[in-house]
Amino acid sequence: MSDCIFCKIIEKKIPSKVVYEDEHSLVFEDINPQAPVHALVIPKKHIPTLLDITEEDNPLIAHLVKVANKIARDKGIAERGFRIVTNCNPESGQTVYHIHLHVLGGRAMHWPPG
Ligand code: AMP
Ligand code: ZN
Repeated sequence: MSDCIFCKIIEKKIPSKVVYEDEHSLVFEDINPQAPVHALVIPKKHIPTLLDITEEDNPLIAHLVKVANKIARDKGIAERGFRIVTNCNPESGQTVYHIHLHVLGGRAMHWPPG
């Protein structure tokens, strides 16, 4: 999608610190990290929100979770613990309308979230 910042990152029209890339996903460092480890796992397919995921996306979503787990292991936070967050729509705090898994870790997380 032409006016989507994450699509532009996928197309390398906007620079990012890429952590991992494959045919269906891209992982890059969040520009405003909220924890020592804060990476964003995104599909290369433009899907605006969680609510737009369809049945045909099931393998893609499973793949994104698998990639998030790989990132947690590679970053050394898997055993300590980490958090996967996906915001959906304004009250959740979603600001970029191309789905992404925040992978957060490297510090103790709080509950309930803010
Ligand atoms: P959300 O608010 O859940 O939609 O998350 C969007 C995330 O994207 C925020 O954590 C931002 O810091 C991050 N972000 C926005 N623009 C960029 C960018 N150009 N490069 C890396 N991360 C970004
Ligand atoms: Zn997009």
